[in-house]
Amino acid sequence: MGCHIAATSHKVSPPVSPTRPAATHAADDPLIPLYAPVTELRGVGPALAKLIERVAGGSRVLDLLFHMPDSYMDRRSRPTIRTARPGEVATLAVEVVRQDAPDTARQPWRVVCTDGTGFMELVYFGRPPPRPLLPGAKLVISGKLEGFADRLTMPKPDHVVPAQHASLLPGIEPVWPLTAGLFPGQLRSAMRHALERVPDLDEWHDPALMRREGWPSFRDALRAVQQPEAPPGDLPRRRLAYDELLAHQVAMAWMRQRERQRPGRALMGDGRLRVQTLERFGFTPTPSQHQALAEIDADLAAPRRMLRLLQGDVGSGKTLVALLAMLRAAEAGAQAALMAPTEVLAKQHHRTLSRLSPIPVELLTGSVKGVARRNALLGIANGRIKLIVGTHALFQDAVAYHDLALAVIDEQHRFGVDQRLLLGSKGARTDVLVMTATPIPRTLLLTQWGEMEVSRLLEKPAGRKPIRTTVHSLATLGDVVDGIGRALDRGERVYWVCPMVSESELIDLAAAEARFATLYARFVGRVGLAHGQMDPALRDASLEDFASGRIQLLVATTVIEVGVDVPEASIMVIEHAERFGLAQLHQLRGRVGRGEAQSFCLLLHEDGLTDTMRRRLTLLKDTEDGFLIADEDFRIRGGGDLLGKRQSGLPGFRLTDPAQHEGLLQMANRDAAVLLDRDPRLESGRGMAVVRLLRMFDRGAALRTLGSG
Ligand code: ADP
Ligand code: MG
Repeated sequence: MGCHIAATSHKVSPPVSPTRPAATHAADDPLIPLYAPVTELRGVGPALAKLIERVAGGSRVLDLLFHMPDSYMDRRSRPTIRTARPGEVATLAVEVVRQDAPDTARQPWRVVCTDGTGFMELVYFGRPPPRPLLPGAKLVISGKLEGFADRLTMPKPDHVVPAQHASLLPGIEPVWPLTAGLFPGQLRSAMRHALERVPDLDEWHDPALMRREGWPSFRDALRAVQQPEAPPGDLPRRRLAYDELLAHQVAMAWMRQRERQRPGRALMGDGRLRVQTLERFGFTPTPSQHQALAEIDADLAAPRRMLRLLQGDVGSGKTLVALLAMLRAAEAGAQAALMAPTEVLAKQHHRTLSRLSPIPVELLTGSVKGVARRNALLGIANGRIKLIVGTHALFQDAVAYHDLALAVIDEQHRFGVDQRLLLGSKGARTDVLVMTATPIPRTLLLTQWGEMEVSRLLEKPAGRKPIRTTVHSLATLGDVVDGIGRALDRGERVYWVCPMVSESELIDLAAAEARFATLYARFVGRVGLAHGQMDPALRDASLEDFASGRIQLLVATTVIEVGVDVPEASIMVIEHAERFGLAQLHQLRGRVGRGEAQSFCLLLHEDGLTDTMRRRLTLLKDTEDGFLIADEDFRIRGGGDLLGKRQSGLPGFRLTDPAQHEGLLQMANRDAAVLLDRDPRLESGRGMAVVRLLRMFDRGAALRTLGSG
């Protein structure tokens, strides 16, 4: 996933802009050799290509070239046997003296070698040494040295090469992420052939920038990283990260430019519906809500399309802002739709909006069927229905809007990015408001949502009590359960979130079911279960039982992370809190503290926490500031977790490491703005080189949108 202009397809994409005839001649494109499949490289067959695709995320030569090493193995130390030190990685020239076969299966094979200064042993467990290691053979070996008794040993050398081929041994060896069946030697060889195909390209970066940073050319940077002769240092990686960041920023700046040119409509309202809604609501909007609404109103009133992100921590009151914005559309005689990521959330929004809105709100989800559905579709088509809430069902082909002026998307990161494009197709001039409860840190905002304006809800509605967060060892689980029992007897409602044991949903599930069984045995009839693998109807039933109070304790996996709103719930227990991301813990905690009662969050952790884990839990205990937590989380883990994927790094980015390259992002952002300002159609020499850059990073599709808008 990632930005909507990051094409994920790895096909050779057709050339870019209709305004750039020169660039449309594929034959001129010096990048063509890099778009070829890796199977065109010498020694790479279909089986190896599959493995490369698995690690590199694509099957083109370019994908292989962008498969970055995690680290480097320095094999340049060339001691003699006498001067070699156990513990170091070294390369030695030796002659084989003899092979000792093991007496029993549990002993290793030993190959005794000498170089005239002493003796050493190569050690092979479980299988005989490879063929070149015959007595009398002159070899160069490389690997990690160990000492055993007072003998120098090398367990299973990484490299064994006949002396006359010693030059084949890399001095600095990249250590790439591998997968089962893929060996470093295969990657190294494929990479060598791939690098041979990299042409000398016109530089796309500003010459002054290149001088200031001291960066190598694109080709030299790739060589320095992928086939180094000396430790590459930071510069080549920074250059490549900047290539990627600039490509992305230019693509986004281009889209933004286009959005600005695109006609929108000026939506005005007389405020009549809003006044009635606020009367029903009974509270005064917070200053942030006022501010956000003013920003949205200005966008709606302007004759161009709105693309705005409403960012507010859980419980900050985004729903009210959304409804008031939707009512403006209705006041102007047009329609507004709110899309939620799940059926449960859609129903919940529908209840809330129906309660507050002076005009009817229609629900449209996959489970609205038959006559009800036909009536809804009819009302949406003829314009009788002004406000609609639903799931992605809202944007199916069968749904034709009379005049959709505003689309609100809740919790956007749960959707694929295409949904946003789908929305546009329902009304050419539809304004879009995206709401997210995830306090996205600045860096990620720039990379993923850079083309959107942002409104933030900074404070929570007054009168909200802070959540009391405490940290407990799992060793005290018995006491915690006793405490929960007392709370249940007082009539309180409790979420119990189960650990993420692994990346596997099935294993997570087992843990949740086991916990459910023990808690159910103790609190019979008062406990329910909700997890992602359940029949959605059963899961919704559990959530509804919990919302209505028929059950008081809900054991759940992270399905409750987003949006579930039960104001009566006042206790959140999170098991194995150390296994969750900070931002995710914060999201989960936000499920309580929504009502009048004092709320609690209990973070249960395993004994033997690392310092980092302890620091993270302590931060959570000490603050409820979602922005602070998000920035910290981002620093620790990268952006993957925020987008619902458990991985580090920036989604959609391969060469950029958010922890190391954050400064480059700001630079690229400014660079792109200046470039497009001077050369809005990318027609200058540098502009054309940048077009090539965009295509290389699969951002070329963004340019195609010119002229179609
Ligand atoms: P979120 O931003 O998480 O979607 P909601 O819109 O669900 O937050 O609001 C959380 C709770 O706060 C709701 O019960 C809502 O009615 C209440 N609320 C929202 N705005 C205000 C306000 N200005 N004053 C008092 N309560 C408010
Ligand atoms: Mg919400």
